[in-house]
Amino acid sequence: MKSHAKVVVIGGGVVGASVLYHLTKAGWKDVLLIERAELTSGSTWHAAGGMHTVNGDPNVAKLQQYTIELYKEIERISGQSCGVHITGGIMLAGTRERLDWLKMAKARGRYLGMDLEIISVDEAAKLFPLMDKSHFAGAMYDPIEGHVDPYGVTHAYAKSAQIGGADIVRQTLVTDLKPRADGSWDVITDHGNVHAEHVVNAGGLWAREVGRMVGIELPILAMEHQYLITGDMPELAGKKEQLHAIDFEGEIYIRQERGGMLMGTYERAGVPWSEVTTPWDFGQDLLPNDLERIAPSLEVGFAHFPALEAAGFSQGGGVGLALSRWMVDGDPGADIWGMDVARYGDWTTLAYTNAKVRENYSRRFSIRFPNEELPAARPLRTTPIYEKLQAEHAVFGDYCGLEHPLWFAPSAREAEDLISFRRSNAHPHVAAECKAVQNSVGLLEISNYGKFDIRGPGTADWLSHMMANRVPAVGRIALTPMLNERGKLIGDFTMCRVAADHFFLVGTYAAETYYMRWFERHMPASGVTVRPCAMEYVGLSVAGPNSRALLQSLVRDDLSTAAFPFMSFRRMEIGMVPGYVGRVSFTGDLGFEIWVTTDYQRALYDLLVKAGREYGLKLFGGRALNAMRIEKSFGSWAREYRPIYGPFEAGLDRFVDFKKSEFIGRSAAAEEKDAGGALRLVTFKVDATDADAIGDEPIWHDGKTVGWVTSGAFGHRVNHSLALGYVPVALAKADAGFEIEIIGERHKAHRLTGAAFDASGKLMRT
Ligand SMILES: Cc1cc2nc3c(=O)[nH]c(=O)nc-3n(C[C@H](O)[C@H](O)[C@H](O)COP(=O)(O)OP(=O)(O)OC[C@H]3O[C@@H](n4cnc5c(N)ncnc54)[C@H](O)[C@@H]3O)c2cc1C
Repeated sequence: MKSHAKVVVIGGGVVGASVLYHLTKAGWKDVLLIERAELTSGSTWHAAGGMHTVNGDPNVAKLQQYTIELYKEIERISGQSCGVHITGGIMLAGTRERLDWLKMAKARGRYLGMDLEIISVDEAAKLFPLMDKSHFAGAMYDPIEGHVDPYGVTHAYAKSAQIGGADIVRQTLVTDLKPRADGSWDVITDHGNVHAEHVVNAGGLWAREVGRMVGIELPILAMEHQYLITGDMPELAGKKEQLHAIDFEGEIYIRQERGGMLMGTYERAGVPWSEVTTPWDFGQDLLPNDLERIAPSLEVGFAHFPALEAAGFSQGGGVGLALSRWMVDGDPGADIWGMDVARYGDWTTLAYTNAKVRENYSRRFSIRFPNEELPAARPLRTTPIYEKLQAEHAVFGDYCGLEHPLWFAPSAREAEDLISFRRSNAHPHVAAECKAVQNSVGLLEISNYGKFDIRGPGTADWLSHMMANRVPAVGRIALTPMLNERGKLIGDFTMCRVAADHFFLVGTYAAETYYMRWFERHMPASGVTVRPCAMEYVGLSVAGPNSRALLQSLVRDDLSTAAFPFMSFRRMEIGMVPGYVGRVSFTGDLGFEIWVTTDYQRALYDLLVKAGREYGLKLFGGRALNAMRIEKSFGSWAREYRPIYGPFEAGLDRFVDFKKSEFIGRSAAAEEKDAGGALRLVTFKVDATDADAIGDEPIWHDGKTVGWVTSGAFGHRVNHSLALGYVPVALAKADAGFEIEIIGERHKAHRLTGAAFDASGKLMRT
């Protein structure tokens, strides 16, 4: 084995082999894969090889489409077959809700260029004669589903990588990883050591163990999974290969395997395998059967596909491409937020991961409704006012393991989300909350944001280099996008200046680790310290025309616009509570955000609620906030703002300051400004009836799909349905011809030239 390599990839499963191939393809030849046993000695050996292009995250779906094309390429280079069987696939819906879900999935697929089709039960039965029609309401057909041979795919990647210059070492166990001061690594194995500039953890079933070598507890857990293969079935003899089918109600997937059928299930009572450590001697072994555990699913399967009773992975391509680009170019080249481990934080303890993975497995084929909050591992993290909000009949959501109020019901009995794709039971209550903000004053808990305390003599210069907007003066706030070198959006922050060398940044909590990774990469040797402090500071916000009078009754500082204008920020005492007060509100109304250390939150809450009685104060939650920010055309991270968009496309022009000195992404942003970008974020008023857009619906123009919705909601202050979405720049000023498809039905959409609510921004400023 060589003693030095630019990259060491640990693990010869489908993912490690794919990364190795993509690195050689990107021009890095000095790359080495180390495998403990033989290639495919982990979960790749066990995989059923099913491949699907439909995914809940459209960005992941795009990578999966890429994988299918890739198989042809590696077969050509290596001469090794990938055993690709493109049979086509059907997803069978047993209920109306599931059929609605399929219609939405079809609509999402439309802007990804996928050729999906909703078909009747009769048409489905013609395509897949093994089904019993009486159990189904309809289906979706995807012509490019099928299955591959995971062993063949892994070897095709490995051979192609070797042809491209890579080395592969088998029967060698990586036992430890030791960092050097220059950021490189000593990879310790049972057959000698390798010095590497980069190490890729593709340890699959053992990725947790490899993570622990560098002190990281990765939030992953394997679940036991079973599938059955029948003997040869007469029904299949002499026929064309059967389609791949998914039966949602039975939680079953089914496909042809030689002369019989393979049927697998994601049972409700799923069991994790090897909860804490994976034995190093596990490999191409089978776990003992536990048919009893999957019996309820099998029963449904045998009823839905009667002929079966009588007879007795992963793709990894897109992952390899994104990771190799990330390493070679410093950027994954695609929006991989949905797969990035940085979206997790310290709350993902072993037991939390265990509970969430079990839930995820058991719901593999379940419908996730837009207003559905999943129950596992809850409540885990709560703020000091949790019980007080509960007493006010809050319906909570969970965000990064933290409970936060979504809306408030009038009674305990009604404090429940009745799940639906259409406007739900929360609709009138959210309406009342929005009206309170519009007419008097609303109180919202805002603890679920990420916060960063940044200090030191170099802070202002460093932030000026990191952020696209100008650094605010002391006592002021600036909203700012953060760009990568390619001028794409990788964050958006409320940047508050406490003192000359002290800033308080507020951003998306789920992206805290993602932001810290970027901050640390660009940290100067001295003069700046960044401390994430999300749970050290919790917050409450008051918004609406009476918010100033309410807060003024509790503070000595003058809150008039002359003394404390829009976008001001100051340390204040609210009664006896010390805190930061910012004059800003995501509702787009007159409003204030108050940040206090956690020990003061109860006192602050009591004070505001008591004083608020006189001003008509009403509690509101995240749903109302979302509706109000959409009324203001305010974007949100991971929806409107993602690394696939530039700041001009996202309508953030006024927050990019070309007059200041150099900042990351400046030249790319200047190019985008000159060229105009490809897309534009647009606000639409939608003629919706009983369901609003939620995100990922296609936008039509003159009968063609031209864009996609990023967020949608009913705007209660303006009394109509709204959506934000991206369209090609050439259509950004089109006045007519737009439609938005919601649950399979197209609705007329009217492009607005400004925000639906208070377009001039007068309310926030006066
Ligand atoms: C029963 C079953 C059915 C499945 N069906 C499907 C399906 O139909 N479709 C689908 O897309 N996915 C399926 N999957 C999931 C799929 O198998 C995995 O997602 C995929 O194989 C993961 O590949 P990997 O390369 O990350 O990990 P692995 O295949 O686990 O590979 C990791 C490799 O790393 C090596 N390794 C680990 N640690 C070290 C070390 N310290 N030193 C040296 N080598 C090391 C291991 O020996 C192993 O070869 C299924 C899985 C199972 C178990």
